[in-house]
Amino acid sequence: MRRKIYLDYAATTPLHPEVLKAMLPYLTEIYGNPSSVHSLGQEAKEALEQSRQKLANLIGARNEEIVFTSGGTEADNLAIKGVAFANRQKGDHIITSRIEHHAVIETCRWLEKEGFSVTYLPVDAHGTVSPDDVRRALTSRTILISIMHANNEIGTIEPIAEISKIAHEAEVYLHTDAVQTVGHIPVNVNELGVHLLSLSAHKFYGPKGVGALYVRKGTKIASVLHGGGQEKGYRSGTENIAGIVGLGKAAELAKQEMVEEMPRLTALRDYLIDGILNNISDVRLNGHPVERLPNNVHISVAYVEGEAMLLNLDLAGICVSTGSACSSVRLEPSHVLTALGLTPTQAHGSIRFTLGKWTTKADIDTVLRVFPQVVSKLRALSPLAKSAKGTSPQR
Ligand code: PLP
Repeated sequence: MRRKIYLDYAATTPLHPEVLKAMLPYLTEIYGNPSSVHSLGQEAKEALEQSRQKLANLIGARNEEIVFTSGGTEADNLAIKGVAFANRQKGDHIITSRIEHHAVIETCRWLEKEGFSVTYLPVDAHGTVSPDDVRRALTSRTILISIMHANNEIGTIEPIAEISKIAHEAEVYLHTDAVQTVGHIPVNVNELGVHLLSLSAHKFYGPKGVGALYVRKGTKIASVLHGGGQEKGYRSGTENIAGIVGLGKAAELAKQEMVEEMPRLTALRDYLIDGILNNISDVRLNGHPVERLPNNVHISVAYVEGEAMLLNLDLAGICVSTGSACSSVRLEPSHVLTALGLTPTQAHGSIRFTLGKWTTKADIDTVLRVFPQVVSKLRALSPLAKSAKGTSPQR
């Protein structure tokens, strides 16, 4: 079978072979329930605690501040609903941004129906939230600020450490969705100054269906899942031991491999950006030019549809995305791109390449050969391209 060129690492990553190796015994021989007192249970319990330590070590947390969840979505729900319900007597106002992942935005919308009020901050043309806007949005009723560490569509990295100073002065909790950054760039909960941080294993070569919420000691949150009281009562349910072992191993590997991966991916990313901007007319790079994830290239291409580009690239064996994998089932233009000020037509003509561990320079050279051909072919069929004046869409 022809090898696919996978450039959708922000949607999900393949398992690191070492992660699979670490997980396998916990799917076969060491199957005990960590709550069981016998030796098989206790072996599972030990693996659980070792994984907690590895993850805590990656993000600069204490072991007891890690709560394992079923992934990023659950971590976001637990952080936001958890703070909202545990601090309701103090206030009912939440500040977030217009470009958050649906796991945050939809949770906030649901809380609005439950009587909370939410401010959705705008972003600038690069997708950056202004710390001054955060300060201005604070009220005496504000209990939580939730701003993502980096955006999953356009790759912009947000000024969380600056926002944290404002949150601390106002004595308001700060949550960050770091699903796209943990394991890819240095993330330290103390340097960021956050009270809560969400992460997900499948975004950094771990398995799907497991993640964690960092909860700073002393942070008051209510649990969302009630039951047997696992994870200190924050998250009941028998622990996904194999998944958690995979998450721990992925965290350990990321810490070692990030030092070399970050500059390697940044160079490949910039090579791809330059190649596209120099060889295709009427394209724009979305997201911040500098404060951006090392693996993210997000562009809008005039006169063509993102879906058409995606399908044509797929036929050529190149897997990309038109934006957030989680929102590609929706037909409306991406809320992130419209928040940047793109028109619905520009938003629909957008495409995201996200690079990763197994991306090579040869892969990017293939993309730089195939992608201009795809765009030319689609523009030749596009009535919009034909009616556009003063441009050279066939180039
Ligand atoms: N937050 C962000 C920024 C994401 O990119 C994603 C996944 O795409 C999620 C949350 C949801 O994570 P999970 O797939 O683990 O539920």
